[in-house]
Amino acid sequence: MADQYDYDLFTIGAGSGGVRASRVAAAHGARVAVAEEYRVGGTCVIRGCVPKKMLVYGAHFAEDLVDAEHFGWKIEGKSFDWARLRDHVQNDVTRLEGLYGQTLSNHDVTVFDERATITGYHEVTLASGKVVTAKYILIATGARPHVPDFRGSEHVITSNEAFHLDTIPRRMLIVGGGYIANEFAGIFNEFGSKVTIANRSDTILRGYDESVRDRLLQISLTKGIEFCFMAEFEYVEEQDDGTFRVKLTGQEEREFDVVMVATGRVPNIEGLGLETVGVECGKRGEIVVDTFSRTNVDYIYAVGDVTDRVQLTPVAIREGQAFADSVFGDVEPYAVDHSCVPSAVFSHPPIAAVGMTEGEARNLLGSVRVYQADFRPMKNVVAGRNERSLYKMIVDAANDRIVGIHMIGPEAPEIMQAAAVAVKAGLTKADFDATVAIHPTMAEELVLFK
Ligand code: NDP
Repeated sequence: MADQYDYDLFTIGAGSGGVRASRVAAAHGARVAVAEEYRVGGTCVIRGCVPKKMLVYGAHFAEDLVDAEHFGWKIEGKSFDWARLRDHVQNDVTRLEGLYGQTLSNHDVTVFDERATITGYHEVTLASGKVVTAKYILIATGARPHVPDFRGSEHVITSNEAFHLDTIPRRMLIVGGGYIANEFAGIFNEFGSKVTIANRSDTILRGYDESVRDRLLQISLTKGIEFCFMAEFEYVEEQDDGTFRVKLTGQEEREFDVVMVATGRVPNIEGLGLETVGVECGKRGEIVVDTFSRTNVDYIYAVGDVTDRVQLTPVAIREGQAFADSVFGDVEPYAVDHSCVPSAVFSHPPIAAVGMTEGEARNLLGSVRVYQADFRPMKNVVAGRNERSLYKMIVDAANDRIVGIHMIGPEAPEIMQAAAVAVKAGLTKADFDATVAIHPTMAEELVLFK
């Protein structure tokens, strides 16, 4: 490795992509440093996927404890203590942050707990003023919540703050109709908030299969979540008692205790010094990279949400791994395959998907076969819960290949992870038919489609 530089790799941002890239590069023998201005672990670990999933678990007890009575359990004096859950979650986040830090130090990666800016050719300056040089620079700074511009926008919170609320709000407005809006609506609704989702369009979860989205909408309405469509902020005003008066387009002025915005996330590129060395960015502020995560500046790479390819943690991790292997490993450079990426929405109940929606498949392939199972899971039947699951399989009629699976129902993401292997591998409907069911399960529906 080139000794004229202080490091072989300097990574900016110790989130999912940055940590993976740094430790793998170090394992390949590179001298690596990483700068993180906030907390090691990034969005996923500190204020995203991980603490969110813990809250989803916590929230689901609201239903489980009601259902338990149908299974013979009598639970007296049950109550919910938000502060206890919140603090347990935060303690675990701190534990995980420590583990991520340990992983880096175990691999002899130097961690700078401060901001880093590219200040010249192969040169980075830290907030402390220290200047270091590196043969390669990796930008893995992630993204942050986008807050639309409107009067009173300073009064809203984002998912970042939702983890730290002092109390569960009585009335909560969530603006946006995507992943975060639906996940947090489910969480706070289970905790007892009266939740209203407002979206600018007439849909939720654009990009997911229409029938699955409709099912979530119907179930969410039944659970008491309110939806306002074609509604955008006009203003938010704080009142003397700390509550908020909110005006949305097409709606009466309403009062809420907490207003949360979940209208997408924007790449973190500000103050990185990209202009100093001429790194190209796209229209949405994303760093433009090729399939090998290389920017237009040959020694600067970028992975994860800052590149706005697929804003998912496992994708950022793969991009970090591929970068580190390709640049520092003993392998032919390879690119991450961004096709057929499975995903999930941890709503109540959750959604999971892989491949094309029915609409996409019809547009792209013309002739498709669609199989559908619309059923009430056994647990819901016994619990007297009228909540139906929906599984859909989309098959290319020309060759019997499964091109998409879409599910809403309990444990859908857990089931989908295994099913996604089959779809990615290009298996056919006949392959699923040839597989014997595990009975009684929900997942058996996948091999029983008629
Ligand atoms: P999403 O992209 O999922 O949804 C954004 C929502 O906000 C859409 O409903 C969109 O409306 C609306 N919107 C977008 N821009 C504006 C605007 N300028 N004004 C008003 N409304 C707007 O974003 P999220 O914030 O929910 O999540 C960000 C990303 O984080 C996701 O895309 C996902 O990649 C990732 N994530 C993944 C999770 C998971 O894997 N389970 C969980 C949480 C986040 P419209 O309907 O018109 O498009």
